[in-house]
Amino acid sequence: MRLRNVRGSREEIAQNEYVVQDSEQYKGKWNEFFQNDNPIHIEIGMGKGKFICCLAGENPGINYLGIEKYSSVLIRGIEKRKELFLPNLYFVRLDAEYINDVFDKEEVDRIYLNFSDPWPKDRHAKRRLTSKEFLARYEKLLKKNGEVIFKTDNRELFDFSLEEAEIAGWEIKNYTYDLHNSEYMEGNVMTEYEEKFSALGNPIHRMVIQQKK
Ligand code: SAM
Repeated sequence: MRLRNVRGSREEIAQNEYVVQDSEQYKGKWNEFFQNDNPIHIEIGMGKGKFICCLAGENPGINYLGIEKYSSVLIRGIEKRKELFLPNLYFVRLDAEYINDVFDKEEVDRIYLNFSDPWPKDRHAKRRLTSKEFLARYEKLLKKNGEVIFKTDNRELFDFSLEEAEIAGWEIKNYTYDLHNSEYMEGNVMTEYEEKFSALGNPIHRMVIQQKK
């Protein structure tokens, strides 16, 4: 994602009511934060937030946390969130590398990864959000039978991700190279990137992987 510095975004994020400040303090206590025992779904690399805002509106019985590394991107999600009544949605500004500082063992039911950065150079493979290193982090915080749902139009990244899931011992529940012409399309919520790339004619790939705990 091309990043444009949005003036004042860092300051706004640091005091915004929809952004969880010092998120580490809620490790193991996210249900207390939401004041209910509903399942917790997170999106890592939420970008401008259309996907997670839409899901939160459709599913009031699920708690959502949108995670984004950059303030200048997250600020767009906050602008969307302000217009909606979504008590089940909050944001965390965080580099996913530190995700285990924020979530305890078996605290999360589902992780969404949408159009994650491809990091095409081999020497950067560990930075891909579907690398076995990241899967090991997710394994700790996911509940038994917890899932990762990943969408991308990048074939190389998708095939890499399928391989990494197998190496890491995850079950590949289902996958498709053409989500928009598949049986899995019903209920699909498009992300900003998905709208952009599918409009260009790129097929969208999607996989659901599950822990074999
Ligand atoms: N998910 C959105 C979509 O599909 O429209 C945005 C996709 S964009 C290509 C990838 C997003 O992931 C960017 O907003 C980027 O800042 C964020 N991101 C990349 N690496 C990250 C990390 N390590 N932790 C958290 N967010 C990250």
